[in-house]
Amino acid sequence: MNFSNTYTCLDEIFYEKTRPTPVRNPRLFLWNSSMAEQLMIPNELKHDSVALAQAFSGNQILPGSEPIATAYAGHQFGHFAPQLGDGRAHLLGEVFDQFGQRWDIQLKGSGRTLFSRGGDGRCALGPAVREFIMSEAMKALGVPTTRCLAVVTTGEPVFRDTTLPGAVVTRLASSHLRIGTFQLFAARGDHQALKTLCDYTIERHYPDLQEEGANKYLLFVDKVIERLIRLVVEWMRVGFIHGVMNTDNISLCGETIDYGPCAMMGTYDPETVYSSIDTQGRYAFGNQPEIMQWNIARLAECLLPLINADKNKAIDKVGGIITEFPIRFEQVYMKMMGKKLGLTSFQQEDQKLLFSVLDQLKERRMDYTVTFDLLTKSLMSEVVASQMKNELEECFDLWQKRINEQAATSQEVHELMRQYNPVVIPRNHHVEAVIQECEETGKVTLAEKFLQVLRSPYEELAQTSQYQDPPSNGDEDYETFCGT
Ligand code: AMP
Ligand code: MG
Repeated sequence: MNFSNTYTCLDEIFYEKTRPTPVRNPRLFLWNSSMAEQLMIPNELKHDSVALAQAFSGNQILPGSEPIATAYAGHQFGHFAPQLGDGRAHLLGEVFDQFGQRWDIQLKGSGRTLFSRGGDGRCALGPAVREFIMSEAMKALGVPTTRCLAVVTTGEPVFRDTTLPGAVVTRLASSHLRIGTFQLFAARGDHQALKTLCDYTIERHYPDLQEEGANKYLLFVDKVIERLIRLVVEWMRVGFIHGVMNTDNISLCGETIDYGPCAMMGTYDPETVYSSIDTQGRYAFGNQPEIMQWNIARLAECLLPLINADKNKAIDKVGGIITEFPIRFEQVYMKMMGKKLGLTSFQQEDQKLLFSVLDQLKERRMDYTVTFDLLTKSLMSEVVASQMKNELEECFDLWQKRINEQAATSQEVHELMRQYNPVVIPRNHHVEAVIQECEETGKVTLAEKFLQVLRSPYEELAQTSQYQDPPSNGDEDYETFCGT
């Protein structure tokens, strides 16, 4: 593979040079062959599962790779942790794919680093499989996300509440720069490092800003806001709950990263939260926009010295942008929800319709994905239309009236709605069943079958119907755990 590493060109305060700890018996468990094509993995490696297992467990270092553990800090559940960093991950390096896009290749679960604190540096198979499945599903849904190239089992146990099979997951990301990376150097008062980091991030993810003058860092915050708004709006479109929106898990390039305790919302309720450690519901489905704003405010604080030497002036400038977050978010969110409802253009007065539909969903404990899927289908089927009228009552009539006012044909509205409303999502109970099968049998049959369906979430394939069922109890007792 052709590595072209740039992060290791930065000063060593940004990372620790460190090698993965070899594992006893690496075996290729899941392999993303389309991603392998995209990355142009050489044929002699691609077709040799033993070599792949060696390379993507960290046992064998690929030529050109310079493994590092990156340093970062972060707010975890609102509390600042001045030193986090990759405690169980090794960034192997950067490669270009066939489209000229740069990717970080990172192993997770590959052993202890300088940043491991009390941790064992390892990852269990279950969370590795979850990350693989969820990120593939999100990609196919059209949500910006990191990807997975491989899951390799290690042949070693990891000790959590119980003994579990160990694994290393290979994650691909446009980069691993996070809000927490900036926080590390801001907390140290190292303005030079902050500037280096910010210029690096701009060059890598926002190259258009490079030509900007004095306002560059302010515009940077503005652009990051734009991308992170798009990200959260996409989460809200498909019912995704990230579960651990700590600042160290918020990527500067706007990709979904860290699939630890994530889950999909079944029954529509903005207060939905599944993570066992999120006892206050800080990262509940409906709180995600507000939390994203809070996180971006933490980034902006770090950048004050770069925005203006006079702190008060800097606060004035960037404060205005942060305050505008809710308005900007709402514009993008409303437009997206309008499309979910089949509205070619969303008018101010359509908010009433949207809220009454959402209220009805919440009150009647209806499934978010199923409802919007059936609403889409109701345009083409009398039977589904009368079913939906039964469930949504007068909301349905209001919706139909509004749809009929548009110039578009039913066919066109149907097409529009289908682009925004998936027929299938990675439902929690199916993800759990697949993970359990992987853990208990060591077989990937169910995982591969599930992945095939999830890779076409807007199409009804022969097997799709097996995965559309909402959980029998509305996922009331469902709990997720940080994948540590
Ligand atoms: P996360 O909740 O996955 O975002 O992880 C938060 C922090 O804990 C990061 O610094 C991780 O690298 C670290 N961490 C998580 N699990 C482990 C582990 N098993 N061993 C060492 N460090 C870990
Ligand atoms: Mg993390």
